[in-house]
Amino acid sequence: MKILLVEDTRAVAAVMAARLGSFGHEVSLAENGQVAFEKFRESPPDLVLMDIEMPVMNGFEATNRIRAFEATQKWAWTPIIFLTASDTPENLVTAIEAGGDDFLAKGLSEKVLHAKMNALARIAAMRRQLSIANLKLEQQASRDGLTGLFNRRWMDLNLDLAWAQCIRNGAPFALLMLDVDNFKKYNDHYGHLAGDDCLRAIANAIETAVAEANAEGLSKEAFAARYGGEEFAVVMPSISAAAYAEIAARVVESVRKLRIPHEQNEAWGIVTASIGGSRRESASGASVMVFRDADAGLYRAKENGRNRCELS
Ligand code: GH3
Ligand code: MG
Ligand code: MG
Ligand code: MG
Repeated sequence: MKILLVEDTRAVAAVMAARLGSFGHEVSLAENGQVAFEKFRESPPDLVLMDIEMPVMNGFEATNRIRAFEATQKWAWTPIIFLTASDTPENLVTAIEAGGDDFLAKGLSEKVLHAKMNALARIAAMRRQLSIANLKLEQQASRDGLTGLFNRRWMDLNLDLAWAQCIRNGAPFALLMLDVDNFKKYNDHYGHLAGDDCLRAIANAIETAVAEANAEGLSKEAFAARYGGEEFAVVMPSISAAAYAEIAARVVESVRKLRIPHEQNEAWGIVTASIGGSRRESASGASVMVFRDADAGLYRAKENGRNRCELS
């Protein structure tokens, strides 16, 4: 494991580092609490071994700083073990109260040090697994299971954040609501499994169109989400009127371009989608009005023959 060894007495540091190295650990040295904190922030280790008495910044203060920093990070808890001259009960209590997890006496035998490091390495490995699992869970909670697009929950959360920021900056804001045309007939004719494949392809086309617009600088931090069923949304903070119209047209075209056969889709013979859009030159009030206008546009797009956008 990666160990940050904090010790101002060079001779002690050298012996400790050599031992830890011989157990197979990767050791990084800091000669006081200040240096330790900076090294920790740059690249958090699996374990900190922390001397207490040191110049510039002592071990308790450094531990305080590290714990405060960890509070701003996700899933972070690094074991901090104090190195003390003697293993008295008072030292143990002080170490735990200062935010440490345990303490080791500096005069510890090599055998005991080895065993303790093995136990801590097991904890470090478990922590790594846990944080990977947490990341996966977090990702799953924000993604739609069928299409992999952001889900409704994520969208609601992030739309509100984007909306609030646009209000603060007096920036424009736009929303597209997309609905697949005659999709019930698609399911009835080709079956639900084919329907699912079709939704995945559409989601991918929309996401690609939005990613391209972001990459080209046409939009800034625009995102697509599955709103529900065969409905998708594109959220576009700080978007110009021209870019808004361009992206809406591109998204409708991206679905058409898939050329997925759909015999029952009226005049077109392929899968198409309708879009309703709404844009504010300067965001203000409640975002629900933007939804309402986009919905009204979608209704018009359907009324006017589908496979088109109606923007306001
Ligand atoms: P319109 O052009 O007016 O939008 O007609 P439509 O048939 O698309 O609209 P309607 O709301 O009547 O039907 C939507 C269909 O979308 C019905 C539903 O079975 C289908 N659908 C919704 N979610 C899924 C899904 O996850 N998988 C599949 N295969 N179908 C879905
Ligand atoms: Mg010291
Ligand atoms: Mg619908
Ligand atoms: Mg539909």
